[in-house]
Amino acid sequence: MAFAGSPAPDVAAPALAAAHAAGAAAAGAAHTKPSGARFELGRAEVEPRRAFFDAGRPIRLRYRFSARRRLDLVIRVVRVADRKTVRRWVEHGLAPGRAHVRRWDGRRGDRGVPADGRYELRVGPRGHRGALAGRFDFHDHRFPVAGPHGYGDRFGDPRSGGRVHEGQDLPSPCGTPLVAARGGRVQARGYSDALYGHWVLIDGTATGRDYFYAHLQAPSPLEDGERVRTGEPVGAVGMTGNARSEFCQLHFELWPHGYRHGAAADPAPDLRAWDAFS
Ligand SMILES: [Zn+2]
Repeated sequence: MAFAGSPAPDVAAPALAAAHAAGAAAAGAAHTKPSGARFELGRAEVEPRRAFFDAGRPIRLRYRFSARRRLDLVIRVVRVADRKTVRRWVEHGLAPGRAHVRRWDGRRGDRGVPADGRYELRVGPRGHRGALAGRFDFHDHRFPVAGPHGYGDRFGDPRSGGRVHEGQDLPSPCGTPLVAARGGRVQARGYSDALYGHWVLIDGTATGRDYFYAHLQAPSPLEDGERVRTGEPVGAVGMTGNARSEFCQLHFELWPHGYRHGAAADPAPDLRAWDAFS
């Protein structure tokens, strides 16, 4: 890397001075060079390699660097596909040779959630493009059935009494663990003998969407108002409610504007997308 360091004693002074002046001018114009610091990223590690938004474990970067003195370092989360920076921090006065940690909650600077995809963390002094510290996959949801499953009755299928099916059925062996597709807060839970059996409704984090899980084997272990993280247990596949005459399955609904606000949306496209990676 380029730097305008102090002269090595065996270099002819006039030549060095000229080179130094030219370098300093260029650096001044760009306002960027970490003059003389000789930054170099050492061992760096990102965990987990596959991260889910609002999961219990934040994305964590551990790193060391070498330099001649303490430095302010810029850390960026960059989307690999389009090189867009989705989050950026400036860490002040970091000591070289020490282990440093930066955690990321999976949110952009404006608190929104970045798109699914491959991301990397880059670390460097201001103006430096940043050395690659590690890459990871980031997903904003996870598939709710943690085991073998199929696709059953679809959204919009006709039901008795002029009702329509407001969700997607996912047949799966009874007892298969169910996990939160998206973290959030339990908005309600209950039992409906005629329709849903044991059900739980979760208000998703950083989204207006609500997620509804029905025909659970037993009451959800979650309490009303409880905070749940993406991928954490919400219950198990069962055949309670009107599934008792059919088979073991999860009935899953997605409410884009909150439960019973507006209309439910077809969750199948999202489910299939999440199914592809989780
Ligand atoms: Zn159903």
